[in-house]
Amino acid sequence: MWDNPETSFGEYQAVEHLTKKLEENGFEVTRNLCGIPTAFKATYGNGSPSLGVLAEYDAIEGMSQVACSTKMESVPGKDKSHGCGHNLFAGGSLAAVFAVKAYIEESGKGKITLFGCPAEEGGGGKVFMARDGAFEDIDAVVSWHPEKMYMVRTRPALANVKVDYTFEGIASHAGAAPDKGRSALDAVELMNVGVNFLREHMELTSRIHYAILDAGGTAPNMVQSHAKVQYMIRGVDSETVGNLKKRVDKIAQGAALMTETEVSSETVAAYANLITIPTLQALANEAMHDIALPIPTEEEIAFGRELQKTMKLTKEEAERPPFATEVLDPAPPVAHGGSTDTADVSWNCPTVQMHIGNWVVGTPGHSWQSVSQCKGTYAKKAMLYAGKAVAGTVIRLFENPALLEKAKDEHKEKIGDGYICGLPEGIKPVMQPKA
Ligand SMILES: [Zn+2]
Repeated sequence: MWDNPETSFGEYQAVEHLTKKLEENGFEVTRNLCGIPTAFKATYGNGSPSLGVLAEYDAIEGMSQVACSTKMESVPGKDKSHGCGHNLFAGGSLAAVFAVKAYIEESGKGKITLFGCPAEEGGGGKVFMARDGAFEDIDAVVSWHPEKMYMVRTRPALANVKVDYTFEGIASHAGAAPDKGRSALDAVELMNVGVNFLREHMELTSRIHYAILDAGGTAPNMVQSHAKVQYMIRGVDSETVGNLKKRVDKIAQGAALMTETEVSSETVAAYANLITIPTLQALANEAMHDIALPIPTEEEIAFGRELQKTMKLTKEEAERPPFATEVLDPAPPVAHGGSTDTADVSWNCPTVQMHIGNWVVGTPGHSWQSVSQCKGTYAKKAMLYAGKAVAGTVIRLFENPALLEKAKDEHKEKIGDGYICGLPEGIKPVMQPKA
């Protein structure tokens, strides 16, 4: 999978590879889950409890790097790569469900489902799956993600919505007939100014950022008749995001009014905030402490040290061994500015995630250094550690029905009136053509 990176909603070969392995091992595979060609589920066992494990497998667009190299060098002709370690994510989760299968065979207990989740990198595959009920009959989900430390995730994740604002104006010669033109680009600029003023008057935990998708062209002697800006609006929960979006909508309308242009908007993605479950975190923490961490070889340590020379390390990071040497106790949750589509899963059933130290200390996510490591020998050992940690947590839930019930009670209390998917009605994933 590292050698054949596939991006959001184009992960056809990864899915073929994973589902084949699952079928060979006696899992019952459902392809085209929720009508998404690169989503699937694979189940083993019967009855309850019914537990889930997540796998991701999409790569990042616009980046390539030679494997296991300590210098930045791209692979000629390649423009995508596994910079977030989703190749490892898939492998570790596969290992986990195979281990759980062995447990089910022995104990005769319950059912395990591996969810193949496409398009984590911006496409929000799990949001579509959650909206269409993929996780409805699952008692709890256990997941993980490559990182540079070993720790249960306690960090919350913000809800968000992505909205495209499209302005339509009137084209004209900017020098000869400026009075005849109405600039859509001006509208985008005024909208951005308006949002800058809004930032002072919103919750501290909210965030707004944008990218201009269409600046109307490259000719300054044209009055730009079309322009498009994408806004990403984040907040502690979907209600906060919804309220903030209404205010951004008003600014867009104001910008259109000022410039005598027309504006339309379209919501293209929406993520919920992450619901965390203390009982599951405690179980996952116990499972992680129970398994010996991978021990890096001399060569892996030397490679790690060399690679770290290319990173901006803090003094504290520079003084530590290059690979994490212990499982950290879950940190008190601190505010976090990012979002994840696992959050939408967490609204449907109790969910826990683990950070696994596949990367050397100091590795930035989505960097050439992480691409380089994602095919390395240490990363692979940590991937199998992840498999054991996920399986260890799942098996603890099979063994302790009372704790599973407690987790479900905590979940019920936290979700209040329940899950409302932020995606507009009828919106579907935009698939890449199959090669
Ligand atoms: Zn990722």
